[in-house]
Amino acid sequence: MHDTPELSLLRPSQLDGLFRDLTSLKGVGDRSAATCEKLFGRRLIDVLFHLPYQMIDRSYRPPLNVLKEGGLITAEVTIGAHNDPKRRGLPYRIHCYNSSGEIDLVFFRARGDWLSKSAPEGSERIISGRVDFFRDKPQIVHPDYMLSVDAGKNIPLYEPVYPLTQGLSNLAVRKMVDQITPHIPRVPEWLTSPWCQRQNWPSWSEALLAVHRPDRATPLDALSPARQRLAYDELLANQITLALVRQTKRAHVGQAIPGTGVLSKQLTTLLPFDLTNGQSQAINDISQDLASPKRMLRLVQGDVGSGKTLVALMAILQTIESNRQAAIMAPTEILATQHAHTIGGYLDQLGVPWVCLTGGPKTKARLAQKAAIAEGDVKLVIGTHALFQDDVVFNDLGLAVVDEQHRFGVKQRLRLGSKGSSGGDATNILVMTATPIPRTLSLVAYGDMDVSRITDKPAGRKPIDTRLMSIDRYEALKKALQRIIDSGDQAYWVCPLVSESDVSDLAAAEDRYADLAALYGDRVGLLHGQMRPDDKARMMHAFQKGEVSVLVATTVIEVGVDVPAATTMIIEHAERFGLAQLHQLRGRVGRGDKPAHCILLYRGPLGEIAKARLNIMRKSQDGFELAEEDLRLRGSGEMLGVRQSGLPSFRLADLDQHAEMLPEIYDDVQQLLAQDPQLTSERGLAIRTLLHIFERGEALRLIEAG
Ligand code: ADP
Ligand code: MG
Repeated sequence: MHDTPELSLLRPSQLDGLFRDLTSLKGVGDRSAATCEKLFGRRLIDVLFHLPYQMIDRSYRPPLNVLKEGGLITAEVTIGAHNDPKRRGLPYRIHCYNSSGEIDLVFFRARGDWLSKSAPEGSERIISGRVDFFRDKPQIVHPDYMLSVDAGKNIPLYEPVYPLTQGLSNLAVRKMVDQITPHIPRVPEWLTSPWCQRQNWPSWSEALLAVHRPDRATPLDALSPARQRLAYDELLANQITLALVRQTKRAHVGQAIPGTGVLSKQLTTLLPFDLTNGQSQAINDISQDLASPKRMLRLVQGDVGSGKTLVALMAILQTIESNRQAAIMAPTEILATQHAHTIGGYLDQLGVPWVCLTGGPKTKARLAQKAAIAEGDVKLVIGTHALFQDDVVFNDLGLAVVDEQHRFGVKQRLRLGSKGSSGGDATNILVMTATPIPRTLSLVAYGDMDVSRITDKPAGRKPIDTRLMSIDRYEALKKALQRIIDSGDQAYWVCPLVSESDVSDLAAAEDRYADLAALYGDRVGLLHGQMRPDDKARMMHAFQKGEVSVLVATTVIEVGVDVPAATTMIIEHAERFGLAQLHQLRGRVGRGDKPAHCILLYRGPLGEIAKARLNIMRKSQDGFELAEEDLRLRGSGEMLGVRQSGLPSFRLADLDQHAEMLPEIYDDVQQLLAQDPQLTSERGLAIRTLLHIFERGEALRLIEAG
């Protein structure tokens, strides 16, 4: 995110120094700046936000007769004899001693003349480094320091170690930090909530100083006051931005969409079941949002199989009742087709015209569809996310539903509103996700939206019998498929997530398919992401109609497919999947009346964590619980994958360590904006400084505009 010129003009001048280029430092040229840029950025502030991950403690100065293997020591010694081996491969040794004992310094491939000059025999030196033992005698190989007693006084007692890259040494980073820290500006305090005050945190500038130039060996702990404070600052800047976005986006006055209740009542009579409480609650929330002239930005978060489609359909009907158009977008064509099948089926019964637009060629039929959308004859458009990049023009789009948004980021969501009619930004947005991320994290991922959670499931859902099985038993499992086929049941066989690359996934699925098809012929089908859209649709259809009994698939089926006759889910290399993803996959079965099974095939031996994770899958069927567990066992990054989740990445905050502060931060932001929406109070101005420091351009622009 780069500052626009107009924003940097508004930046308080005391911050300007922080945004200077690294080349303004002594000893930093274009080359090193470019190296830094690759790793963390090339402005002074980027160095300050590049936090050390370890602290070397040089305060330990033991007598030389009590040294332990591996200990880091600092000692004042007298230099004894030099031993230059004169034979390649043998190290250069310098004997050292003091009143407490002796130790050798060892140098491989050393230049003897340099060593005899920098440590002449008989001189006093401060040495520091890690101890090991050679023939029972202590030595330090390549000491970190070997300085005169005078110069040695400047050795930092506590030395930060930074993440580095080729061409960037720790010393280089430390030298930059040392030049920058004296110029950290004093800024007004923006943390004034009672909760923050109780924490007794250092000020912003003290905190930065403490993490880079600690006076104790412990400030690296993520829960140290300094680290916590910096994390709070960063998360606060993030949450304020999201809140401002939400505030402004919602303030865009759209038209009220009260509906008439005619279509939704009719639908209720068509349904063979009652709505769950969670569904009713979500439908209520949405209905009120739509009926208000404020723009809706709502997320419906509900486990796989919790019946989100119906919730979306009710919102769509209310929109159509008010004579506006609606669109629903799915992340894959398969899912779009699925929606066409279910939602379209209901709309046909209600006599509402709709179309399904997938990424097919620009045929005449497609042109006609688009014309009908532009005319307003078509009331609902079903499609993939591409729909919104496409040249589709709506007559009067009142509602955009985005299904399964876990492949979507906040920024993308912000762009969604622009397809609306009246003045562009007023389309109501409903996002539905099955990614059951923990509540705290959802503040970060979806803080710009209102959230409805569906926590119950349609009645009568039986738990899915889940088992772990070693891939060693593959042959037996293969034979057991016969029973499934004979009984008219169906199974998914999901192939390994080999890597991020779709190509190797595909190879694995093709191999598995070939092997199963050799036994069961065309009762087995193959589905993967690289198939042509109509081939995919045909295969999915064949599976839906029961012509194919076993569907071998890559993870393309993960999202949303609904085939009630599928009773068994087999997942290969289950140990490589995140729990949330396994849960999503498992949710594909158990939608009918028959008992359902999930077999998690793993390749042993499994590590402790892998074992624990798979075992949780056996015990729990609750997506929210699984998400919490996965977070606990693996950490947020692993669990969601930043790219997949739309979670922003932070530089100072570590969501695994600091997410617990999010509810505090959320309340802090609510209070702040309630009292001072334009950020003009004393604290408001301090907050603006915070937003400048974290380059929250969107937020600053929104305040300036407001
Ligand atoms: P998801 O939340 O994963 O998108 P779906 O909307 O696909 O779930 O619903 C899963 C299945 O549950 C569908 O077959 C749907 O018809 C059924 N269903 C939805 N709501 C109910 C309900 N209240 N009672 C019983 N079955 C329901
Ligand atoms: Mg769904």
